[in-house]
Amino acid sequence: MKLSEIRATLKEIGVSPAKALGQNFLHDQNLARWIVDQAQISSEDYVVEIGPGLGALTRFLLEKRAHVLAIEKDPRLANFLRSRFGYERLEILNTDALQFDPRVLFAHRCVKLIGNLPYNISSPLLLKFLELPTPISLWLFTLQKEMAMRLSASPCTHDYGALTLRVQLRHRVKYLRSVPATVFFPRPDVDSAVVRLVPRDPLELPQHDDELLLKLIRIGFSQRRKQLRKMLGEYARHWNTLASCLDIDPNARAEELSLLQWIALANCIAPPPSQDVCSAPDEPFPVVDENDRIRGYASRAEVHGNNLRHRAVHILIFNQAGQVYLQQRSRSKDRHPLKWDSSAAGHVTAGENYDKTARRELKEELGVDVPLERIFRLTASSRTDNEFIWAYRGVVSGNLAPNKYEIERGVFLTPPMIDGWTSARPDDFAPGFLECWKAYRWEMHSGREQSIRLEAFSAANGAASTA
Ligand code: SAM
Repeated sequence: MKLSEIRATLKEIGVSPAKALGQNFLHDQNLARWIVDQAQISSEDYVVEIGPGLGALTRFLLEKRAHVLAIEKDPRLANFLRSRFGYERLEILNTDALQFDPRVLFAHRCVKLIGNLPYNISSPLLLKFLELPTPISLWLFTLQKEMAMRLSASPCTHDYGALTLRVQLRHRVKYLRSVPATVFFPRPDVDSAVVRLVPRDPLELPQHDDELLLKLIRIGFSQRRKQLRKMLGEYARHWNTLASCLDIDPNARAEELSLLQWIALANCIAPPPSQDVCSAPDEPFPVVDENDRIRGYASRAEVHGNNLRHRAVHILIFNQAGQVYLQQRSRSKDRHPLKWDSSAAGHVTAGENYDKTARRELKEELGVDVPLERIFRLTASSRTDNEFIWAYRGVVSGNLAPNKYEIERGVFLTPPMIDGWTSARPDDFAPGFLECWKAYRWEMHSGREQSIRLEAFSAANGAASTA
């Protein structure tokens, strides 16, 4: 819309732009088209637009034939958009974007997030939508210029700080262009800029302890003019040796360290394990026949290398709200690294039965010990990596303490969210989990739980528990 059209429309729908809602409407249509072009939208994309306003960007997103979910807090603007655009591909949600649950987006294949953000809430919006795990593959924002510069800053600059590192740790950030205040009505007090973020490949940066790294960064930047040696306290006990290992000036301040140097610092303080510490290749597993009877023992490496039939457990942990915890397997796992999996899972080892393994895995992986009930059994097949699987369910009321050497990250999701994610992007998951989830949902839908428990009980007292 041209400036005159924006003025006329606002008058017609009775909106006088509110500063509290960051209502500055873009009237430069060439710029709006250019912004949308930077997101490389196609008809395959599911685009979430935050704060569509009068539809300056929405119009061009729809021209790209994308499916658009537009989240607008002001009901008058949401109603106007409904009357302006009658496309089936446009969903308009009249809500506060800060209240929107991004986990529902897992049900879509190619998700992109775009918006000329309301300045007053751009930081919480950014942090909310950048939080991991996320299905979003590209973020394109027009932000206050100062914020855009902080996100995209390089070391040794005024804008480089804890926010820069926190965002760049997971994303590549590109400052695309500055935008003068004059392209908006009403004109904001400050200039803007357009930035694009894409997620980093999870293996792009060295493995490290995220919690420690973010803590060091927070401490380091809490007084940015002070030298790190004075700021890092107990972490800087052998500072001169650390500094020479990292090839940094021993008098360096926080802003002088690149992201890689921060990671190296965290790794000098707490070296990550060099391999999968939780799965020794010579650990003996029972090898079983087609009826799940033990026929001998072989090492983990032999079992997997020769595709021998063996035993495993999968555990689904629910919270009080009925959401299921999914874990992303550690990058150092020998099988299916970085794939999403059941809350906890593992192999039955020599001398264990299924129930004992389930309790052990739960404690080792999630640091909890809650009652578990058997829910179903899967027969060994190529779809389960030749594992007989007993699945268990447990409910937690407190926090989990995920083992950081086994688990990259985790998230609680409602069962419909998991249904959506597994069908939109099955490749994100370990194959055993997909089988377990299919079986679990089938049990839930068919109401066969009772008979399955009976089967579980007899199996527990028969062939399946001869270990
Ligand atoms: N995209 C439009 C444009 O470029 O002309 C409008 C951008 S304007 C800077 C920000 C928009 O966000 C306004 O339409 C405002 O009503 C909306 N908004 C403000 N706070 C919001 C929130 N918490 N959730 C969703 N929309 C919000």
